[in-house]
Amino acid sequence: MNYSHLLFDLDHTLWDFERNSSEALNEVYSIFNMQRFNAFSSREFVDKFKEVNTILWEKYDHDEIDREYIRTKRFEMVLSQLGIKIEDIPEDISSTYLSICPTKGNVIPDAFEVLDYLKGSYEMHIITNGFDDIQDTKLNSSNLRGYFDRIFTSEAVGYKKPSKEMFNKAVEMIGMDKKSCLMIGDNLETDIKGALNADLDVVFFNPDNLDHNLPVTFEIRKLIDLKAIL
Ligand SMILES: [Mg+2]
Repeated sequence: MNYSHLLFDLDHTLWDFERNSSEALNEVYSIFNMQRFNAFSSREFVDKFKEVNTILWEKYDHDEIDREYIRTKRFEMVLSQLGIKIEDIPEDISSTYLSICPTKGNVIPDAFEVLDYLKGSYEMHIITNGFDDIQDTKLNSSNLRGYFDRIFTSEAVGYKKPSKEMFNKAVEMIGMDKKSCLMIGDNLETDIKGALNADLDVVFFNPDNLDHNLPVTFEIRKLIDLKAIL
């Protein structure tokens, strides 16, 4: 296989969303002095956010809700499910979280070692369903930006993963044929199923060892395992 272009997902694949988001939520918890509610710990806050956020992003990926819905409803859902009355939810909690989270720079273990190894041999790009401004901040605060040639966000491309148009459009904009491109991502639905539907070879980054029956081209548990493939 002669790949020349690598398409990387960003959140959970390179940028450590769980860790960065947890750090941001802990700060939000103390900024808004959430202990005063006497209702939940910062740990419960983080866990509930993860649960709600995963559901909302699945809906977003499938065009059932938009960005504004995530921004306005996410904390309302989290806090009301934790027993807080709507009128007690701080108005600027969502914007506060969004101003902190993308500035966090933790990356998935081995990300830099692998990217340094790949840099000389491949052109690398990001393909993400995240939002332009947020993803741009994340790439800069984590020092990942310099490794990538093109950043394809759903906002800019006009399609979302898993739709095959998103992948087709990205490959077309790179100006390569599909055989030269390899998609690398952690999400079975958006990254892997989507890219396979678009006839791209894929690397499923599967740190949690999830069960699946998709015909993935490669599967890895750790990013460092890419060195054995590429
Ligand atoms: Mg991801």
